Amino acid sequence: MGEKGVERPATPYLLSTLVMVGLMMVIALFFITLAAKTESERNIIWAMLGFAAVLIVMMQMLEVVKARRAALEERKSISIVIECQECGEKLVRDFQRGDYVGKEEKCKKCGGKAMVTLIYSEKIR
Ligand SMILES: [Zn+2]
Repeated sequence: MGEKGVERPATPYLLSTLVMVGLMMVIALFFITLAAKTESERNIIWAMLGFAAVLIVMMQMLEVVKARRAALEERKSISIVIECQECGEKLVRDFQRGDYVGKEEKCKKCGGKAMVTLIYSEKIR
């Protein structure tokens, strides 16, 4: 089955929804056989159950949307620090392809030799 290392955050939510709806069905059946004496009483209970089931599914879907949004917000940005060897100027800018520690850059302040001294990531919030 799905044994690849691909993350699928929606699966546990859908599973828990099914479990909750299933549990409600069992509880409702229990109450129907216990409490409902007439056909109309049974219908009211089933209607309430259906409404509750729809509510739970909607709430779970909201959770999935929230989880997706949170995962997107957890994205990290990578920055690098460039230090000038001549004037000591420190510059922080976004990481670009091909950047590495020790890479030579031109100092924006004095035009001298500068070097990438640090590459780090931080969360975007
Ligand atoms: Zn400089």
